[in-house]
Amino acid sequence: QLVFLTGGSGFIASHILEQLLFHGYKVVVSVRSAIKGDSIISSYPEDIRKDISYEVVEDIAQDGAFDEAIKSNPTIDFVIHTASPYHNNIQDPVKEFLDPAIKGTIGILHSIQKYAAASVKRFVLLSSISTIINPFNHADVYNEEVYGTTTWEEAISGRLTYRASKIYSERAAFEFMAKEKPNFDLVTVNPSFVLGPPPKHLTSLEALNTSNHRIRDLILGKMQKEVAPTGPSHVFVDVRDVATAHIRAIEKTEASGQRFLIAGGYFSNKRIAELIRESFPQYNDVLPPVASADDFPDNIYGIDISKSKTVLGIQYRDLKTCVQDTVEAMIPRM
Ligand code: NDP
Repeated sequence: QLVFLTGGSGFIASHILEQLLFHGYKVVVSVRSAIKGDSIISSYPEDIRKDISYEVVEDIAQDGAFDEAIKSNPTIDFVIHTASPYHNNIQDPVKEFLDPAIKGTIGILHSIQKYAAASVKRFVLLSSISTIINPFNHADVYNEEVYGTTTWEEAISGRLTYRASKIYSERAAFEFMAKEKPNFDLVTVNPSFVLGPPPKHLTSLEALNTSNHRIRDLILGKMQKEVAPTGPSHVFVDVRDVATAHIRAIEKTEASGQRFLIAGGYFSNKRIAELIRESFPQYNDVLPPVASADDFPDNIYGIDISKSKTVLGIQYRDLKTCVQDTVEAMIPRM
């Protein structure tokens, strides 16, 4: 079966690709340049390369951005949409973040409806826990019934832009389904903060995805004097579990129309630092002092991941395994 996977060069997408290939799918990835497409394909052994191809889609925010790519692959069975901006250096919230996220999602849905409606069975959207959490008024326990909100003013302010990009794009996808009633259905995968081994095709840590920066920074000694604040999120998930959630999201009929909260457990930068110290004593001298404070909150909200376990059958990796495997994968690329 054929899967169209957008944002093929991305951190999470690279793991989805690997698991799709392992499960026998053929995959077309969309990438922003032929160089990126070639480097993804050549990171796989010769006998697997025949199962991967790519389409160049330079900017998903453009009208009809996916038209040609979908038109050239009219027998796609499933679409997994992961391409969306994720970084901390926002200059222009609308152009750089909100447009690619929202127009990119609506755009690909229209392209599928125009050119592959006869073959596509399901559209899986990589969304986020940001569409569930209310950071200014936390619920006691979060599950898929909870919806985070932002105003458009907050969205364009820069501060809540990333969150808003995910809220508005997920909402747009559900609205498209309700209005257009296409032949295919929708599933959203809503992960918490994603950590894990960097993509196979990444040869150095310079272009490392945003959420893994803190692990790289810890082993490079950038927090040697003091541990950096963990930030708003204290819930992590291993990227390999996020990838598995996508594979199950296309395979499980009963996932139809649902959102799935995907989370492996709690974390803080201090906890990550201590796990690195435990497993990789060679980094002891560059890690923050053992006595540094842990900013993990006393009273943290609950995360109900039971639906991801019962419907998708996810068995989550713990923080220790995730950190160990991530550092091990980073060492040869430093
Ligand atoms: P990456 O930055 O590694 O991947 C983002 C992908 O989107 C890249 O392939 C990037 O292409 C592509 N992309 C971004 N903007 C555009 C654009 N305008 N046109 C075409 N392609 C574009 O991030 P992650 O893998 O970490 O995240 C992927 C998705 O997962 C995002 O939607 C993010 O919101 C969501 N997510 C991530 C979490 C995390 O902690 N990492 C947590 C929860 C959700 P290129 O590489 O060429 O720039």
